[in-house]
Amino acid sequence: MNAEARQEGPVILGAGLAGTLLAIFLARRGHSVRLIERNPDLRRHTAPAGRSINLALAERGIHALKKAGVFDQVKELLIPMRGRMLHDPEGQLKLQPYSRNADEVIYSVSRSGLTATLLDAAEQTGKVEILFNHSITGLDIGNSELTVTTGLLDGAQVLRARPIIAADGAGSLVRRTLAEAGLIDASEELLSHGYKELTIAPAADGGFRMDPNALHIWPRGGFMLIALPNPDASFTVTLFMAYDAKPGFEQLDTRERVLAFFREEFPDAVPLIPGLAEEFFKNPTGILGTIRCRPWYAGDKALLIGDAAHAIVPFHGQGMNCAFEDCVVLDEMLATDNALSEDLFARFSESRKPNADAIADMALDNYLEMRDRVNDPNFHLQKSLAWELEAKIPERFVPRYSMVMFRRIPYAVAQRRGAKQAALLKKLAHGAATLADIDMEHALQVVKDELPVMDPDRLADQALQT
Ligand SMILES: Cc1cc2nc3c(=O)[nH]c(=O)nc-3n(C[C@H](O)[C@H](O)[C@H](O)COP(=O)(O)OP(=O)(O)OC[C@H]3O[C@@H](n4cnc5c(N)ncnc54)[C@H](O)[C@@H]3O)c2cc1C
Repeated sequence: MNAEARQEGPVILGAGLAGTLLAIFLARRGHSVRLIERNPDLRRHTAPAGRSINLALAERGIHALKKAGVFDQVKELLIPMRGRMLHDPEGQLKLQPYSRNADEVIYSVSRSGLTATLLDAAEQTGKVEILFNHSITGLDIGNSELTVTTGLLDGAQVLRARPIIAADGAGSLVRRTLAEAGLIDASEELLSHGYKELTIAPAADGGFRMDPNALHIWPRGGFMLIALPNPDASFTVTLFMAYDAKPGFEQLDTRERVLAFFREEFPDAVPLIPGLAEEFFKNPTGILGTIRCRPWYAGDKALLIGDAAHAIVPFHGQGMNCAFEDCVVLDEMLATDNALSEDLFARFSESRKPNADAIADMALDNYLEMRDRVNDPNFHLQKSLAWELEAKIPERFVPRYSMVMFRRIPYAVAQRRGAKQAALLKKLAHGAATLADIDMEHALQVVKDELPVMDPDRLADQALQT
């Protein structure tokens, strides 16, 4: 890049998941894209530990990858997970399937494997230039100028670009700059809980040491441990816990305390994590939070997408899925007018914002469900009742989890219907110990009276609407 350069066509900041997928969509529509990434090319360097090594991929993400023409390459990276495998304090296991339909599963996928596949596909379009080891350190939005630093001796360079598409993640420099300039409103709400990643190594024979086709959870009320499988037969384990509580990260300040805590709370996991204490102190404690802003654009100069616009806590496994859905929605809008204009950005921002807010709320709510409600017998009864209702009247009743994970019903609709359904389930299951105690005819009638039929077309493809 010259000391002062101008880019014809969009510049995308951040070759992470959203930025790279969007680059593919834009290239397929004929745009020449420059993708700027501060990190080295992960296809040639190993990424540092500690940042969600694997992710849950669900229907919205799969749909986006199919539309971008890359799902066939991604398929081989996927490990299906059919439900939650609950580990109780005695080490007893219980599988809680995600759906009554055996083919409704989510998939564990490696973050670096997925990103590498997207980078390859972006380059193969012939219209995406990727600059690795290039950090954006400043933005003059009035003049559409980015300051780009390479870490080499040639110092900072200025790049003129319009539009600038910010896919630079939760800590987005663009979002913060636009907020400081008063062009958008933004809030960053940190959770009082953080996370720590650990590893379950493969067995001596190279196999998995637990069932690979489940998302393992050790729910303990105020905190939890989870584990997702990797293709090399290891599991990435994540401890979610408060910083400053009992127990909390701040308390676990010696090797002995860490081991005692794990032996007490997760006894069956301890022998599976041989490097427990070493990894605990070597890996960083990650922060979690919710980012909301409005609008997601500044004229025709800048657009925010993915975590830069709407980072959420990871408890519904939807951050990446939602970011991928952003890309699909923008691409569909470009089908009618292929201009990256202020009008496009405004329509995109208005259509996505209510949905991003809804999944942010549902993700926070799901933390309670994963770490606590899964232990409640009435929660299981309500889940069984929900499946029964779905089996009998699927046009009216789809469990909220399924609406979010296995359909592309707009998040805002899933949230609204989900709240109504939750109230009905609570009322219908009140005082019952098993399904046999519930008058099913009455339950069906109540649901028919309260919940309108969902339009089958809208059930399939309505990411654009709320
Ligand atoms: C613990 C954890 C578990 C998660 N699990 C799931 C899950 O199971 N399923 C799911 O769907 N989502 C999950 N997520 C969320 C998911 O990781 C994010 O939603 C997703 O990574 C967002 O993609 P993005 O491209 O918007 O941002 P990012 O992936 O953060 O990418 C941003 C990119 O921009 C680059 N960048 C940033 N600043 C600059 C700069 N100034 N100059 C140049 N480059 C820059 C970064 O290096 C990075 O490559 C999880 C998140 C966490 C923290």
